[in-house]
Amino acid sequence: MSVLSQPHFHNKAAAIARLEEIVWPEGPHCPRCGGVDRITPVKGARVGLRRCGPCKREFTVTVGTIFESSHVELHIWFQAALLMASSKKGISAHQLHRTLGVTYKTAWFMEHRLREAMAAGTLPPLGGEGKFVEADTTFIGGKEKNKHVGKRNPKAIGGMGKAIVHTLVERGGAARSHHIANVSGKTLRPILSKHVHRDSALMTDTAGGYHNVGKEFARHEMVDHGKDEYVRGDAHSNTVEGYFSILKRGVIGTYHHVSEQHLHRCLAEFDFRYSNRTGLGINDEARATRLVRGIVGKRLTYRDSSVA
Ligand SMILES: [Zn+2]
Repeated sequence: MSVLSQPHFHNKAAAIARLEEIVWPEGPHCPRCGGVDRITPVKGARVGLRRCGPCKREFTVTVGTIFESSHVELHIWFQAALLMASSKKGISAHQLHRTLGVTYKTAWFMEHRLREAMAAGTLPPLGGEGKFVEADTTFIGGKEKNKHVGKRNPKAIGGMGKAIVHTLVERGGAARSHHIANVSGKTLRPILSKHVHRDSALMTDTAGGYHNVGKEFARHEMVDHGKDEYVRGDAHSNTVEGYFSILKRGVIGTYHHVSEQHLHRCLAEFDFRYSNRTGLGINDEARATRLVRGIVGKRLTYRDSSVA
């Protein structure tokens, strides 16, 4: 069966029922008192409206979420989430606008919110005993062919309009990317200390920034790209290189240009899809479900609710 033939992509009642399954796997709870008992549907009222017996409040599953204040119908949000979660290289706001039949401004707003929902909160470090974490940097923006980090002056690169992206990938696991100012040890140390488990085997190139912080890990192997060395036994950074190739095809092919201001959101998007990829047993629909759950998990602010 086509994923798209499911009713929650087509009508409001089914979309609300599907969202309830996602948000309330254990059954509904009251947003005001947190109660789970004596919650009943309000007869004759709009779809999804429920009343909490103890506190008498009426609510729906979308209360306090972006779905409540958006004029876009919930089943269209489900379509957008599926498109964004399943497009390996991302989907532009122009494409969303054309496919969903919403205005470009609305598509842009939806894409923005979906991307925010992809941003991971506080997560445990990658790796662990017996696990490998690869770290590497790449440049986004500008036309010059990427050169090895160690051969570039980070300050000159900044001046050339290129942004530096640092990515950590656990082999067989998740990716975590950061937009960094330079590749010094001072910049890399806090990222590696926070995001990589000390019992991991850390795989990097020979960039100076890794030398000292590398000693904090169970094992640290460096391959010297400058000497044409790319693989030495289990020491290599092929996994993170694979991540960068997806990121670059997405940024160049889909988004054309990502300003430095928005780069962190773009990285969150590519990290999300990579960390919830098919190879880890997460299919397109399951990934889209995680994304929808992420939207509900984000608190609304006044500014958010005043747009689209
Ligand atoms: Zn209540």
